[in-house]
Amino acid sequence: MNKHLENGKKVLETLTMHGHLAYFVGGFVRDFLLGIETEDIDITTSATPEEVISLFESVKPTGIKYGTVTVFYGTDSFEVTTFRSDGLYKNHRHPEEVRYSKTLKDDLIRRDFTINGMAMNLNGIIIDEVGGQDDLKNKLIRAINDPHTRFREDSLRILRAFRFVSKTGFEIETETAKAITKSSMLLTKIANERIIQEFKKISMNPYRKKAYQSLIDLGVTSAFPELKEGLTILSKKDVPLLQYPHFFTLCFFLHHSEIPENWRFSNLEKANMKNVIELMNDTQESEFQPLQMFRYGLKTCMETNAMNQIICETNDQSERIKNLHDSLVISSMSDLRIDGTDVLQLSVLKNPAMVGVILEDVLVKVLNKELPNEYESLKEYVLKTFN
Ligand code: ATP
Ligand code: MG
Repeated sequence: MNKHLENGKKVLETLTMHGHLAYFVGGFVRDFLLGIETEDIDITTSATPEEVISLFESVKPTGIKYGTVTVFYGTDSFEVTTFRSDGLYKNHRHPEEVRYSKTLKDDLIRRDFTINGMAMNLNGIIIDEVGGQDDLKNKLIRAINDPHTRFREDSLRILRAFRFVSKTGFEIETETAKAITKSSMLLTKIANERIIQEFKKISMNPYRKKAYQSLIDLGVTSAFPELKEGLTILSKKDVPLLQYPHFFTLCFFLHHSEIPENWRFSNLEKANMKNVIELMNDTQESEFQPLQMFRYGLKTCMETNAMNQIICETNDQSERIKNLHDSLVISSMSDLRIDGTDVLQLSVLKNPAMVGVILEDVLVKVLNKELPNEYESLKEYVLKTFN
């Protein structure tokens, strides 16, 4: 038995020894039954957070609002949540009120999908109140109780359904699928950061192609029209796993070649995405140039090449890019043997506004090896060309 699970059982033991009910629950039980190794083991218990805190040496109140504390045991940590039954939901995302419950059943039926709604006790006995085992056997993702209500309560569950398609390769059950189509526009009300996280998970999972196809088939793309072209291509082609956030870069390039305002990436992510999009625009039908290697660097050029190949398999310029990198004459502006002050003095116009234009022209000529990077030659060229 693996160490993580062993430590998890110790946590269950401690809770049960003190008179509480305690079970493994949710994704861990699903993955355990599927024979998939998981990093996260979640525990559900009748003990209140205060009671859990009092029983373990190392505990952090990580989600106390929702009854969750993190218990550190050995080298592992476990999210331990008090049995809950959720009240009414607000903003299509969060329960307005979280009520602790005395029964495991309440806690299981508040969960999203039947395959995520099972518990397992210390002896490995499965508690299945929602038909999760049957759905696992039949490879179905089915909402617990009325799917329309469940998606209206918390619309992020719509995208979670596709996360589980991409993880398991299962089908979405018919009524659940209909409710997804009906409720999909509610996704526009969910915080964009959460949407990004969910797509990130979808795009990293083994059955992502199938998830992309069902996102299109069930009309979820109407909530995210900017992803439609990208999803269409990615649902048809076997492409290597895209590093985050290249899934979005590809989609945005194929849409309007820009990052829509409402997508809330970090500034660094945005800057990287913008660079790749710019470079993709220039290299779909043309060769990478020394100036692009100089400006964007090897990593961005290679990433762009990988993206270009998704769109057109034969557009593989990796050899050219490596050569450009190895034979780059200069790697920064300060390596250029002429600078702005020199240019201003040389040029008859003495026009500071022209300095940038002249330097850029000289830079390109040096990078393209049309001029040697030597002061005298560059001076001669500037005098001849710009006076
Ligand atoms: P993964 O392996 O991708 O982490 P998971 O099933 O563990 O999948 P989590 O997001 O970690 O998913 O959530 C843990 C469990 O909490 C789920 O299995 C489910 O029982 C419950 N859950 C999480 N989010 C929701 C939600 N929005 N609505 C209802 N239940 C939820
Ligand atoms: Mg999880």
